[in-house]
Amino acid sequence: MISRHDQFKKLYPNEPAFRWKQMEQALFVNRFSSWQDVTSLSKPFRENLHNFPWTTVQNAQIFSNKTKDTFKAALQFSDNQWVETVLMRNPRDQLTICVSSQIGCPMGCAFCATGKMGLSRSLIADEIVDQYRFWKKFMPQKLEGEITNIVFMGMGEPLLNYEAIKESIHTWLRHTLIGKTHITVSTVGVLPTLKKILEDPTWPDVRLAISLHSADLETRKRLMPSTATDFIEKLIEWAHGYTQKYGNRRHHLTFEYVMLSGINDTNFHAQKLAELGQKIDQVRVNLIPYNFTNSPFQCSPLKTMEHFQRTLKNAGLTVTIRKSKGDDIAAACGQLIQM
Ligand code: SAH
Ligand code: SF4
Repeated sequence: MISRHDQFKKLYPNEPAFRWKQMEQALFVNRFSSWQDVTSLSKPFRENLHNFPWTTVQNAQIFSNKTKDTFKAALQFSDNQWVETVLMRNPRDQLTICVSSQIGCPMGCAFCATGKMGLSRSLIADEIVDQYRFWKKFMPQKLEGEITNIVFMGMGEPLLNYEAIKESIHTWLRHTLIGKTHITVSTVGVLPTLKKILEDPTWPDVRLAISLHSADLETRKRLMPSTATDFIEKLIEWAHGYTQKYGNRRHHLTFEYVMLSGINDTNFHAQKLAELGQKIDQVRVNLIPYNFTNSPFQCSPLKTMEHFQRTLKNAGLTVTIRKSKGDDIAAACGQLIQM
């Protein structure tokens, strides 16, 4: 899989550097559908581009939920593999897209449908960028509003595809109005890569969400087999480094916590999470209802979630309960798979 930019350099070694900039910019002009539309390029050059890819997306199938505020698209790339991506509208008509970073995922979390597929391959940056371009093109026909947020909560573990997600984020920051605090990378917590983020001067300091799901090591290991034996200590240490470097009100850290009845929602688990949360400045906890994925789990009842939330609030933590969307079309967190 070769990137558009590398293909360009190979095919047009004598073109000036600004030519690529001009071309990349054109990819984000919504009224353009092919290189032929880009009249800022000379006619002979445009004609020469007829074999040069305009998008990595070869095919798409779109599904919409009953309330028409969530859409899921399965996108097919040139090797015939599919990924899923989701567009959601909130009551204020702002749109969030949820993008995939890999086809499948090797992490094997017990509650996640993507995890059951294993890893097929990682996406290249263009394939991640084009999920945004796909929705941008699709929207005018179906939805009003602007895409204001991008979350890496689709298929795959973004920190196992570090260079590609970084490049895709930089591309969006260059060519869209979406700012750094409106992009969230959700990760299971790949410790060496989390460390790299603190040291990498070219890391775009977007928001990070850690999928914690249990502050009790044994429970977490059972749910998430990728959990290292010293995960909790290392996470605390890393979080201190993170808040020192990036911590401010706009740049808080989030812990995601999927609520599994009887597994991680008891008083014991609330206490463990409260203790961990108190050690980390400005952390926010987002409780996520479990979405059905053919696993032997059940979502905690709303009452249990609210009780769990109260315990954490009493311990001084900021806690929200997420509303799941799109579960009637298998578009909610953890439900995305390859078609
Ligand atoms: N691999 C990354 C990002 C993709 S998963 C990660 O794990 O963070 C995005 C979010 O969906 C994660 O917080 C994940 O734990 C959550 N999730 C997975 N399966 C789920 C399910 N069945 N119900 C609710 N959330 C789920
Ligand atoms: Fe992979 Fe995230 Fe699913 Fe775990 S929850 S298997 S890390 S996609």
